[in-house]
Amino acid sequence: MKRLRILKSFDPWKSKICSCGDKLSFNPYTGCSYRCDYCYATYIPRFWEVREKKDLLKKLEKDLAEISDDTIISMSNSSDPYPIIEREKMITRDCLKIFKEYNAKLIVVTKSDIVLRDLDLLSEIDCVICITITGCDKLEKFAPSTENRIEVFRELRDALPSVLRFDPIVPFLNESRLEIIEMCDPEHVVTSTLKLRFDSYKRISKTLPWLAPALKKLYFDDGEKIGSYYYLKSDFRISLLKKVEKFCESLGISCGFCREGIEFKAKSCDGRHLSSSFKNVNGRYFGGCNVV
Ligand code: SF4
Repeated sequence: MKRLRILKSFDPWKSKICSCGDKLSFNPYTGCSYRCDYCYATYIPRFWEVREKKDLLKKLEKDLAEISDDTIISMSNSSDPYPIIEREKMITRDCLKIFKEYNAKLIVVTKSDIVLRDLDLLSEIDCVICITITGCDKLEKFAPSTENRIEVFRELRDALPSVLRFDPIVPFLNESRLEIIEMCDPEHVVTSTLKLRFDSYKRISKTLPWLAPALKKLYFDDGEKIGSYYYLKSDFRISLLKKVEKFCESLGISCGFCREGIEFKAKSCDGRHLSSSFKNVNGRYFGGCNVV
């Protein structure tokens, strides 16, 4: 494959804790307006300033003409494809028109209710929709509320293959908010525990000072560093994840883990198995990923 212009390799480092199968990553914008305190993408400079990309549509068309038909594209992993300015700019909507023209296979990940505007186009594209709902509204001040996102999810679920991202699980904050899963009644849940960097720790501590000492102990004193992030120690991490998995099982919902390096029973973490036309369904570690 030639060097692509705007589509990027997802996890080019092939991290041993990422369980996704092969896919490409696409971010229609740089930066995000939702300002989640725990955001993992703030290594990108001026991340809260949403910027357009030069020649985005032309580059996307050229890239799509060069990739194979069964390539899965994930939109977005280092931003949200529906930042607030998308209401007016409609850049993501224009990208969807191009995806439709090229019969692309798409996984859309968002927290935004703007996605409902594009249901007409999304229904004509081979896609899986993932809505992130954590129940931690205080940490997601500029994003639609939990109640709003549950309504969005229910509407999407009736129209498209839909995944609930119950992600991240923040210890002592939302680990027991499993009613969100019940209210959404998805086919598949993907979940993961909070990973911290110093900048996200500072933001969370400012918003929820009562939680800061516990997070400091759990992550920086007792936790472990994997790559650039601090993780909870593995037995605690596993207990939080298994609690969600067990709850999902009781409701007949499949459940996968994201960037945990822990075996799960679902056919994929990112929900690609929900689309009958996606090939390369199984994740790299499906059924064989041991705890790292
Ligand atoms: S919506 Fe996603 S990309 Fe945007 S700030 Fe929140 S976590 Fe970061």
